[in-house]
Amino acid sequence: MTRTPEEVDPAEVVSRYDRFLNSGLTSLHRFMGIEAAEWKAEGSYLWDTEGNQYLDLLAGFGTLSLGHRPAAVVEAVKAQLDLMPLASRLLFNPAVAEAAAELASVLPGELQKIFFCNSGTEAVEGALKLARLYTGKSIIVATENAFHGKTLGALSASGREAYKKPFCPLVADFVHVPFGDVRSLEAVMRPEVAAFIVEPVQGEGGVNVPPDDYLPKARALCDHNEALLILDEVQTGFGRTGRMFACEHSGVAPDIITLAKALGGGVMPIGAFASTPAIWKVMEKDPYLHTSTLGGNPLACAAATAAIREIKRLDLPARAAALGPGALARLRALQAENGDIIADVRGRGLLIGVEFTDSDIAGLVIAGMIQRRVIAAYALNSPGVVRIEPALTISREDLDRGLDALAESVAQTKAILAQL
Ligand code: PLP
Repeated sequence: MTRTPEEVDPAEVVSRYDRFLNSGLTSLHRFMGIEAAEWKAEGSYLWDTEGNQYLDLLAGFGTLSLGHRPAAVVEAVKAQLDLMPLASRLLFNPAVAEAAAELASVLPGELQKIFFCNSGTEAVEGALKLARLYTGKSIIVATENAFHGKTLGALSASGREAYKKPFCPLVADFVHVPFGDVRSLEAVMRPEVAAFIVEPVQGEGGVNVPPDDYLPKARALCDHNEALLILDEVQTGFGRTGRMFACEHSGVAPDIITLAKALGGGVMPIGAFASTPAIWKVMEKDPYLHTSTLGGNPLACAAATAAIREIKRLDLPARAAALGPGALARLRALQAENGDIIADVRGRGLLIGVEFTDSDIAGLVIAGMIQRRVIAAYALNSPGVVRIEPALTISREDLDRGLDALAESVAQTKAILAQL
């Protein structure tokens, strides 16, 4: 095992990615000017093997809401590691029970019953299965440009053709409507629909915030048609948008919620889907109907318990709510000065998207930020949108410094474009 950064040759790391992982990924990252290998991380910073420091504005696609290696979560995981990392699966496990109770204490509405899995896409798979099981119906309404994950069911609910087409036929009976448009939703909702699945704010779709009345009206349409409302809060959950869950902005509680990313405190992978006791009853007749060998293991559950407690203790939803508007205003001012290449700036809390007029321009801006040792990326379904999604624990100064780097990179990109 490599123990010191001096033992690492970054070129060899890249070459191994090329040979044993995915050379397409290597090319893409090289195109953005990335040749470094990361070594360690703390808070909003990470360091490469050469000792260069980077400011992280991506936070693992929204996973690191508590920053890298939050001490309370690391300690809880270390303690559980010494006790029992994986469960027997037969005896009752206190770490799993504690995580479920802790999560239930923050869930919106009447959501109380939880299934732990390993990732966001698995959470969505479980939610879709539960909706079909409970309603006895098969049609799932989803939104264009949605991102719910890349396993077959979650992919069927997602909305980007480029990711779906190569794998067709996908799961049957998925219908897509434009996001944020009540009329289009109204046109497809009927008694045969099992569920409407939607992100309260589309993340990978390019940080799209729906009109205020969207979720309340979607809730009413679901109720009217005896369909379930599934809110995918894999990315928006645990404070990211300025409330513990983004649905709280509109006072709407879902029938099923899907969670992952920040739930593991940036230390362990864990996902979950949760529902009300009344709906969950259908899962209790045969508790082996939906299972996961590694999902909700004690190590991941110890991380989840500590993460939720830390998010509450630090009141991270309030932090996101306090830092978000200033960042948004600054970015809107940047847009006003650079309307020729910045088409829009939007977001909620610390989930912010800067939409460029072209995805290649967004790529150049990201490359310029990386040159300045600031980590950023585009939204997966909307490559023209650069996302600002830092740890919710980021200091105001660091956030400002990150936005300075973005502004400098925009100026540099314009200079490059002027020479073409
Ligand atoms: N749902 C949403 C809203 C997401 O943003 C993502 C990932 O970005 C997923 C589901 C899939 O999560 P995972 O990559 O952990 O499978």
